[in-house]
Amino acid sequence: MTQAAAVAQYLTTAAFVALGVAVAYRWYRQPSRAQGMLALALITLAAVALIGRFQSPTNPSPVLAFISVVAFLASGYFVLLFRNEFIPLGRRTRIAANVLLGVSIVVGFLDTFVFARADPFVLTVILLELIGAWAIFTGEPIIRFWLASNTLPAVQRARMRFLSGGFAVLIVVLFASVLARSALQNPTAGLITQLIVLAIVPAIYVSFAPPSLLRRIWRMSEENEVRAAMQDLLIFSPNRQALAERAVYWAVRLMGASAGFVTDADGRVLAMYGIDADRASNLAAGSSGEDVIVAPLHLTEGQGTLAIVAGRFTPVFGADEISQMRAYEVSVSAGLERSRVIERMAAIETNKTQFLNLASHELRGPVTVLRGYVSMLEGGLLGHLNERGRKAAAVMASKVSEMNELIEEMIEAARLEDGALALRPVEADLRDVVRAAAESVAPVVDSAHTLDLDLPERRVRVRVDADRTKAIIGNLMSNAIKYSPAGGAVTCQVRARAGIASVAVSDEGLGIAAESLPQLFTRFGRVITPETEHLKGTGLGLFLGRQLARMQGGDITVISTEGKGSTFTLHLPTASATEGSENGAAPAETGPSEEASPPLAQPGAKTD
Ligand code: ADP
Repeated sequence: MTQAAAVAQYLTTAAFVALGVAVAYRWYRQPSRAQGMLALALITLAAVALIGRFQSPTNPSPVLAFISVVAFLASGYFVLLFRNEFIPLGRRTRIAANVLLGVSIVVGFLDTFVFARADPFVLTVILLELIGAWAIFTGEPIIRFWLASNTLPAVQRARMRFLSGGFAVLIVVLFASVLARSALQNPTAGLITQLIVLAIVPAIYVSFAPPSLLRRIWRMSEENEVRAAMQDLLIFSPNRQALAERAVYWAVRLMGASAGFVTDADGRVLAMYGIDADRASNLAAGSSGEDVIVAPLHLTEGQGTLAIVAGRFTPVFGADEISQMRAYEVSVSAGLERSRVIERMAAIETNKTQFLNLASHELRGPVTVLRGYVSMLEGGLLGHLNERGRKAAAVMASKVSEMNELIEEMIEAARLEDGALALRPVEADLRDVVRAAAESVAPVVDSAHTLDLDLPERRVRVRVDADRTKAIIGNLMSNAIKYSPAGGAVTCQVRARAGIASVAVSDEGLGIAAESLPQLFTRFGRVITPETEHLKGTGLGLFLGRQLARMQGGDITVISTEGKGSTFTLHLPTASATEGSENGAAPAETGPSEEASPPLAQPGAKTD
């Protein structure tokens, strides 16, 4: 057992020396005052362990013993200085610590050179004074670090706790070895003490150089939060500003920093957390001595920055958080870029709407004048026209009316997007609306087409904006004719059932490929194929139709087979259904004589 204790003692010494070398190397690689203080504390501790091996147990050298005492005291003192790097000591505390160090060195001197052979009680008191001084130097930082670690991210917290814990156990072991010396004479107790001290070495080592596996284990508890942060950045991005604010918040939180900010490519502070705008601008301009950790943000217009103002324990305890921040930066850049694109698209949309608005309103006036003159020409009010003149006037009249329709559609679309479109709902019979729509498209029904109305016998009461509903149905009818260039039958079937009225316009025309269906109802959405490219249109009719239908509680759906024809159906709530839902009652049936028509939420080959 004695032999085992001796081996353990050698192992402990070797471990402390290895620890000293490791921390010295780290200090050499990352020279900073804080690293330096920790390195000196551990190197001097290793020196104490090493000198102990060289001392002869029977005839110890007083010089070596004194050097050992000084190194021991210095190791504690350096721990205090290490703490001073993070949480500066007050002036009085510093003076007190210096006095304690001086007194303890003198006590150590007396111990080795004067009282070497004194009474064991005196020796115990002296030893207790020396260990007490060391315990004060190290104990205070231990408590500070432990308390401070509570508010830090997982890895920083664990590292500080390992350091504090390691030194705390050392204090306990040292006191125990003096106070319970006789008990520890027992070889088993000695071996256990050695093993405990041996276990401290890796604990202290991981506090300044934690292996990645350990870091990952520590971080596990935070992993979900980090994932949520990343997701937040990539999914939740209402605008750049909000995104930047969240990015800083997470960066500060994940790094255990004291504050942070994001700058745009032009150096402008986009968002900040924990500091005011002035200080953030100063830090961004680099005109402050504070410790700022910067990760570049690669943005299209240049390089921005995600910066955090180092917390007390960053970067010494937060080195890996900093590398994590660099990875985090990629997500932030991507998020910022995405929201920029979204914002730009929104701006383009607004411009488009403004243009639509402006152009359509500016065109309306001149076209009205043209229409007036053309109809006067046609009517012979401006003089008698010969045959060619009458033909020309007819062509002009039809073209001017096309222009007029286009302008009206543009104005309606602009109104819709501005939110300025007000409906004028009136109670109407849907059959009448359909008849009026059919009349309005009568001029485009040529000899190759037939337009058949299939109307129920009973009234179909709806509460709609009659003019606009007529326009929606008119557009479906004129499309059915326009997109069946080879001719064919166009039928318009009106039905009502279960509180829903429907107007289904079917044709035997070109049909639409399934993959093109989604674009039909988008603004300016046209399906261009060799068969349709020569046909005129704006791509606004169905867009407007669906929006207007939805504003009235309905919708437009489509079922189409390429090459065979299409059926576009306008669904609208019946007036009884509107009244029913207004009264909080269930939609009423419209009567047995009315046949089945597809309900609003009908599944099938239609778009939504
Ligand atoms: P426009 O007819 O002015 O182009 P619409 O919004 O009314 O605009 O229609 C959008 C597109 O949907 C048309 O360009 C056409 O490609 C397609 N479409 C509409 N109705 C039919 C139909 N009955 N048959 C085939 N394609 C159609």
